[in-house]
Amino acid sequence: MISWEQATTHFLSIVRLESIKSKIIVLALLTTFIPSLTMGWLSYVKNRQFLDEKITQELLNATSQASREFDVSFKERLYEVKVFSSSYLVPENLEKILGSKRGTAENRKSLTRLRDYLKSLRAKFAVYEELMVLDARGRVVASSSGKKSAVLLPQGWLKAAKAGTPIISNPMWDKTLKMGVMVTAYPIFTGRERLLGVLAAKLNFQKIISVLENYTLEEAGELYLITQGGAVFSTTQPVTSNFMEISLGKSYTKKLYSRESATHEYINYRGKDVMGTFKKVPPLNWGIVAEKDKEKAYAKIIRLRNLTVGLVAFLLCIIGLAAYLLGVTIVRPLNRLIGGADKVARGDLEVDLPVQGGGELGFMTKVFNNMVHRLRQSRDELDKMNSTLKKRNKKLHELSVTDSLTGLHNHKHLMEKIASEVTRSERHNHPFAVLMIDIDYFKKYNDTYGHQAGDDVLRRMASIFMESIRSSDYAARYGGEEFMILLPETGMDEALQGAKRIRKQLARETFGDDKKKIPITISMGVATYPEHGEDPETLVSKADAALYQAKKAGRDRVIRARGTIRKRKKKIRMKK
Ligand code: GH3
Ligand code: MG
Ligand code: MG
Repeated sequence: MISWEQATTHFLSIVRLESIKSKIIVLALLTTFIPSLTMGWLSYVKNRQFLDEKITQELLNATSQASREFDVSFKERLYEVKVFSSSYLVPENLEKILGSKRGTAENRKSLTRLRDYLKSLRAKFAVYEELMVLDARGRVVASSSGKKSAVLLPQGWLKAAKAGTPIISNPMWDKTLKMGVMVTAYPIFTGRERLLGVLAAKLNFQKIISVLENYTLEEAGELYLITQGGAVFSTTQPVTSNFMEISLGKSYTKKLYSRESATHEYINYRGKDVMGTFKKVPPLNWGIVAEKDKEKAYAKIIRLRNLTVGLVAFLLCIIGLAAYLLGVTIVRPLNRLIGGADKVARGDLEVDLPVQGGGELGFMTKVFNNMVHRLRQSRDELDKMNSTLKKRNKKLHELSVTDSLTGLHNHKHLMEKIASEVTRSERHNHPFAVLMIDIDYFKKYNDTYGHQAGDDVLRRMASIFMESIRSSDYAARYGGEEFMILLPETGMDEALQGAKRIRKQLARETFGDDKKKIPITISMGVATYPEHGEDPETLVSKADAALYQAKKAGRDRVIRARGTIRKRKKKIRMKK
């Protein structure tokens, strides 16, 4: 389990880009991410700009064309009404009707003529639902329809009529006809320019706005007519509400009316986020709006943007993976090299790294392996030399401490042993003993049998000593035919027993040749530490003195040293 601190350290090492692998991955991701994001962003901005222009253009085209068509259509209607009103029939008959009493023959005749005229117009022009003649007070004098419907003239119509200008109403709901209508009217004057009344025509609004049917906008676009108050009264999209019962809202209407032919963004009467343009229909006080659902209009570009983001993410994954694998191919041999170098640094030369592939790292691995191979060879050679040297040193040491004739320790080495034994025995409160041995009448033996035979005796004497002593004892050739034996942790009695053992062994041996057996005896002097001396020289001289005593007493015997030399009083546990 990795601890929290370890995980944090690992994360920080990645962030600080400590490893080669993380550097490669970050570099690869950045070199992919930055250009692709920049390109994607640029292309998105360009496309968006292009789309904005296209949408604006489409909306503008729709509003200006529709507006123009409405304009032309209304002008035609106004012209028609003007023509209707300017027929001699109208002022003549209206004057007669207004000038005569109701119910008189002349009145009825004129009324019939006027009605017939209106009816004939109505029959020819289907766009007019009703045509009527009104007097100057706004009362209906004659109508093309049998029913008496409301007149619905806009406010201030009389003023306009007196000025001789046409009158146009807002679109409205006609309760009698049960339809949306617009009223256009033209004044009727006498020959002496006296205002008699107006000829008013109710236009079937549905037929007028059939112009809108020619327009379809791409991507949920909608074209509708809107009054200055914001009431929507005709649209290219189906609406469930009744005529003019839906509204855009004052603030957005104001916004649209404030700047014509500009693209506005707002929430439309359906509650949708849209962009739209507005254009007034010239002679009227209402206009036309073309708008598009923003979400749908930009759907393609949003899809393209999402696709780009997805593609960049996919690319990043692929590049990241490739960079990781590349990092691994670089880092793995490097890590092997680091591990190998670490092993070598710790003294382990049994390293042989696998060489995978060529390149710098492959070459470096080969060089590393060669280097380690060379080091191994040098170390083996050094080891060999070292062991030879050790052997030689051992031999030299043996030679330096051994007597060449007998193979026993030499005089110098024995003295060193006695010195160290003094120290050891002093520390552990142990006694130890030295036996000084000299062959009796050896000169004579030499003289009789020759020096070679004498050497032989010396060698055999050494063997007797080795057979008689313990492995912890040391036998040495003191010089000439004199020997000395050091018996560690041994008191006088035990030393005497040892001397006895040696003499017994010697007695079993025969010297000389087949013709004559010559007995060889030895004399011994025994001294013990610390009884006879606390330093090697005193001890040896005491043993030597005892040996001299043995010689003097007739040879072939053991004499213990005499006298106690004690410089300081010491309690020694004597081993029996
Ligand atoms: P004693 O000790 O009993 O008094 O008589 P000794 O004849 O042994 O006395 P001395 O010490 O005078 O003689 C020692 C002799 O040992 C002299 C020499 O010939 C002989 N000797 C000494 N070293 C060697 C040696 O290495 N080889 C041979 N063969 N003889 C040696
Ligand atoms: Mg001697
Ligand atoms: Mg002798």
